[in-house]
Amino acid sequence: MIRPSYHSSSAFLARSIDLGEADRRLTFFTRDSGVLVTIGKSAWRSRKRFGGTLQRYVLLDIAWTERPGGMAVLASASVNRSFWEIVEDWERVRHADHLLEIASELFPQAGPKPRAFEVLLRGMRSIADGESPPETARKVEAELLAIGGWGPDLSGCRKCKGQESRSYRFLPSEGGILCETCPPSGGSPLSLGAVKTWRAMQAGKAAARGRLRIPVGIAEELRIVIRGYVEYCIGKRLRSLGET
Ligand SMILES: [Zn+2]
Repeated sequence: MIRPSYHSSSAFLARSIDLGEADRRLTFFTRDSGVLVTIGKSAWRSRKRFGGTLQRYVLLDIAWTERPGGMAVLASASVNRSFWEIVEDWERVRHADHLLEIASELFPQAGPKPRAFEVLLRGMRSIADGESPPETARKVEAELLAIGGWGPDLSGCRKCKGQESRSYRFLPSEGGILCETCPPSGGSPLSLGAVKTWRAMQAGKAAARGRLRIPVGIAEELRIVIRGYVEYCIGKRLRSLGET
C-alpha cells in the first residue's frame, strides 16, 4: 500500500461545498500549492479537529494528505490570523470575496504561489484595516495580473509607442493600450490619468502603492476596464462584484 504524503501551507478558504452527510469539499488558495481542493472529513461535525476555524477571511495554517490519483484530505486547520473586521461590513465582504476569486482564477495551477499569496494576504489585511475596499481591489488586481505575466503593457501606444496621448484605448487582445489614431479601432477609452494610475499600481514600490489614492473618476474607469481584462485573461465571467 502506498503511504499518503503529508503537506502543509498557509491558506485562505475560497469555497466550501457540502458533500452528503458531513463531508465538505473545501477549496483553498495556498501559498505552497496554489489552488488546493481537499475533502474535509466530517469537517463541520468534528469540532475537536477543526473547531470553528474553517471560515473565510481567516489566514489558516492547514495540513493535508495526498495519495497518487486520490483527492487531498484535510488533516488539520488552525487560525494563524483572523481578519474578523471584514465580516462587519458588506462592502468589505464583497471585495474580500473578489480577492479570493481573482487569485484562484488567475493562478489555478498547482505549485507554490508565494508572490500571489503575499498580494492576497496584503489585500485582506488592508480591507480589515479599513482601507477603501474598491481601491484595495484595484491594487490587488493590478499586481496579480502583473505577477501572472499578463501585464498589461502600459508604457505607451502598442503600435507607435506614443507616450503622451491625452487619452488611450485599452484593448485586451493587444495586452495594452493604443493611441487615438493607430489601428485597430475600438476598445475601452482610458484617460492618461487612469493609465498612469494603473502603471503605478503594477510597478510602484510597495510603500508608494500603499499611499496611492485613486480619484473617483479614475477609479470608475479602472474598475470597468480591469474587470474586463481579468475576464479576458481567465476566459470567463467573474462571479464576485457583479452588478447589484
Ligand atoms: Zn499609436
